[in-house]
Amino acid sequence: MPIQKSEAIVLRKQDIRETSLILTFYTKDFGKIKGILRGVRGVRGQYGGGSFEILSHDEIVFYDRKKSDIFTTSQCDLIEFFNPIRRSLEKLAYAAYMAELLDSVTALGDKNEQVFDLLLNSIKLLSGDASSRRVARIFEIKLLSLLGIMPTLGSCANCGKLVDTCAKFSVTQGGLICVNCLASDVNAHAIMQGTVKFIEHIRALPFEKVARIKVANAVGKELESTLRKFLDYHIERRLKSLEFLKEIEGS
Ligand SMILES: [Zn+2]
Repeated sequence: MPIQKSEAIVLRKQDIRETSLILTFYTKDFGKIKGILRGVRGVRGQYGGGSFEILSHDEIVFYDRKKSDIFTTSQCDLIEFFNPIRRSLEKLAYAAYMAELLDSVTALGDKNEQVFDLLLNSIKLLSGDASSRRVARIFEIKLLSLLGIMPTLGSCANCGKLVDTCAKFSVTQGGLICVNCLASDVNAHAIMQGTVKFIEHIRALPFEKVARIKVANAVGKELESTLRKFLDYHIERRLKSLEFLKEIEGS
């Protein structure tokens, strides 16, 4: 691969040796990549100007290294730092969660420009005055949809028949299951119609609209716990950022 340039968002930062860094980026044009930056630590203030921090929006220049899937990154220039996120522990915790979630569900080199746009729009929204919780739910649902693992809600995930209000949510079957199929997952849980509708709204409507929709507290809570179980099942590992989020929220 010759020298490449792309917009990128930092998902992860690892310090290595005395002066080098490895950054995991989600790039607009190449999907997730890892890049090594040499000789940057210690003078980070002048050199990076914040471009190495998690969720910074950068323009990077990078090229192949022989026998390695880590690219040499020769330039990493900041486009936007999202100051309001850095000033709020809560926003920062949610930002770290979105970065870790995306890192855990994507493979290196898997290009998806819509995922890049989703991440960038979510960070912008988080940086404004939208509720952090709401931004995280929008990010989760739209990400599931883009990755093709959205829960089935209109029909039974097991038999395909239309579901009624007695349907339950099954994490292992991948969505709602009808009364005839309840035996296929004894752990399926009841879910409110309002929650199902809200998930469908978030998936279908543009960002700015769903950020402002008002829903009952119970719906918000049920949505959060349902998505958590669903994502945990697909990710198969505990995200570190979730522990931090719990601490911040004191729950
Ligand atoms: Zn069924």
